[in-house]
Amino acid sequence: MRSSNESLDRAALRELQGERLHETVEHAYENVPFYRAQLDEMGVTPEDIQSVDDVTKLPMTTKEDFRDEYPDGLFAVDDSEIRRIHASSGTTGKPKIVSYTADDLDLWGRTMARSLAAAGVEPGDVVQNAYGYGLFTGGLGFHQGAEELGTAVVPTSSGGTQRQVELADDLDSDALACTPSYALYFAETAEEMGYDPRDLSISVIAYGAETCTEPMREEIEERLDATGINNYGLSEIIGPGVAAECAEAQDGLHIWEDNYYPEVVNPRTGEPVEEGEEGELVLTTLTKEALPVLRYRTGDLTTLNYDECECGRTMVRMDNVTGRADDLLVVRGVNLYPSEIEHVILDVDGVAPHYRIDLHREGSLDVMELTIELDEAVERSAGTLEDEIRTRLQNVLSFTPDELDLVQPGTIERTEVGKVRRVYDHRN
Ligand code: ZN
Repeated sequence: MRSSNESLDRAALRELQGERLHETVEHAYENVPFYRAQLDEMGVTPEDIQSVDDVTKLPMTTKEDFRDEYPDGLFAVDDSEIRRIHASSGTTGKPKIVSYTADDLDLWGRTMARSLAAAGVEPGDVVQNAYGYGLFTGGLGFHQGAEELGTAVVPTSSGGTQRQVELADDLDSDALACTPSYALYFAETAEEMGYDPRDLSISVIAYGAETCTEPMREEIEERLDATGINNYGLSEIIGPGVAAECAEAQDGLHIWEDNYYPEVVNPRTGEPVEEGEEGELVLTTLTKEALPVLRYRTGDLTTLNYDECECGRTMVRMDNVTGRADDLLVVRGVNLYPSEIEHVILDVDGVAPHYRIDLHREGSLDVMELTIELDEAVERSAGTLEDEIRTRLQNVLSFTPDELDLVQPGTIERTEVGKVRRVYDHRN
């Protein structure tokens, strides 16, 4: 179940991308006044775009553009051709509205099926889909991919975790699709119900929609005795199914770049970075009809790795996303990503994978309070544990929290529906 494009020779792939980029620009120029105005202003015509090297001549699209063009200013087809509309929730203001033609839904299903196949899911498997169904693209995206791959989908959606555990047991679910924090919650609930989650038949956890560090992955894999596979996508591009890890290497996510063209740019200047350097991921759709998107600034920080992968796929791999540019915490002038803190603390023995970060302002000073849950089986004293956490944070991030609270197992609130929230900024 692997499409031939996945292991296409790089030169042939570039040629294909170039043709598709030209067609996409032509389509956007002819049908989206927003893009036509920008290209006209820059003096660029679709004829100027003949290969992927020309991509830097194109304007960038931002999330503000989605808001300004709300609801349908970026649509490129007649209303009669639209078969689905989703929306991604904005924390402020209007959501971003995205639409799909029948062919777009097909494309989505195919690239999502690739992602699941890369994860080791096989036709005939039972896939329990615990992503939320609805306007959010996670639920229906994984659903279509699982159907396209030829699996039996169990559309549990999110929540109702006790029932989910029973279903997983009764239906012998082979794969669980959900956020990484939900995978842990699922395991915890199963344990409370008297199950050993390691005895369930789930062998693949296809997770996404939240950042997940390596120590967090290890925790998920150990608790459920399953392979944890990271998935990446965003509604503005299509939804989940833009990139996924392969089970063979579990080392970076293959971007399905015959359909979604990636660049990495300096987040401040927008200029491309050197190969292998970290920067902001920028994506261009190459085959979409209803909503072609040119050079979308995802806000996600990553690096691209063009080395050959042991799985045989030739498609470039993106690193696990360090964080969204929006997630960056500036605390007393120090730049920190929550994922960096997670990486350090979860490596400490005796710490459970549950934490929260609270930021306050005292006078003109930023104050950070870090609350971490102890592991059930912790045998060390809280004092030595606290010292170790402080020392490690200082050594790795040159930073220690003002307050460090180690709390009993089960104290920190769990997220059963939606994305986990770990940072609470009370400064404004
Ligand atoms: Zn691979």
